[in-house]
Amino acid sequence: MTQDFIPHIDRLIQQRPASKTALEAFRELAILMAQITPATRPVQIEKRVRDVQQKEGFPLFSRADLPLDMDAASDLLKKFLVKLGATGRDDSEGLKKALKQVEHDGDWSGRLFKGILGQDGKAVAELATEVNLDPNVLLFLGRTALRPSIQVLRDTVSGDIDKSQWDKGYCPLCGSQPDMACFEKTGRRYLHCELCGEEWPYPRIKCPFCNTEEQEKLGYFEAEEEEGFRVYFCQGCLRYIKTIDKKVFEEAAPLELESLATLHLDLLAQEKGFK
Ligand SMILES: [Zn+2]
Ligand SMILES: [Zn+2]
Repeated sequence: MTQDFIPHIDRLIQQRPASKTALEAFRELAILMAQITPATRPVQIEKRVRDVQQKEGFPLFSRADLPLDMDAASDLLKKFLVKLGATGRDDSEGLKKALKQVEHDGDWSGRLFKGILGQDGKAVAELATEVNLDPNVLLFLGRTALRPSIQVLRDTVSGDIDKSQWDKGYCPLCGSQPDMACFEKTGRRYLHCELCGEEWPYPRIKCPFCNTEEQEKLGYFEAEEEEGFRVYFCQGCLRYIKTIDKKVFEEAAPLELESLATLHLDLLAQEKGFK
């Protein structure tokens, strides 16, 4: 999957100069991601059990129990740190310190991954402080290092999920919240999982975070002169979700990349008081 990212990234860099820095950094990582082959962990879930689980609204896995190749993720994190630490970024000292930790403390990357998967922001922040890195940078690198291992899992189990029967605002595979949405050419809305990248259909007029369907609470705004992107918000829970309308684009990039290429919309949403 990650090999396919490069042409999309190159096109997005041309089309959205404002996102150039974020995309160029990610391009370096995507090249390294394409070079590793995580192992698949055997997964056996009886169909009957799965059907019942799904009916009750349980995702296939919980984030903390995803059967992932952590060694591959740790190796990849090391490669990221080597690569980015050598690029003369402002935080290259911190990146080098983090590399030392990963190399010398066999458990350090494991703690980082556990913090990320367990959504333990405090644990991630503590690790970041140890090496003088911005917690968001460490979080991003850790999540991206996990991505190929998660993709392998997704390739194995995604076909088992009956998404037409899933009506939740969280991911049917890993239970995470969506970070992005899209309108398919049919007009149907799909949500995109912030962790595993799974996509599933969800009603257009409903907040995925608090489930409200009260129209007066739901709204959207657009960035000026930027057709095809909207930020949908909910005045009930004050959450927002960036949404791309695929009807407007000849070729849309994978939503993971679109999310990176639209960081300015996150800033706009946060300025308006949404989170
Ligand atoms: Zn997911
Ligand atoms: Zn809401």
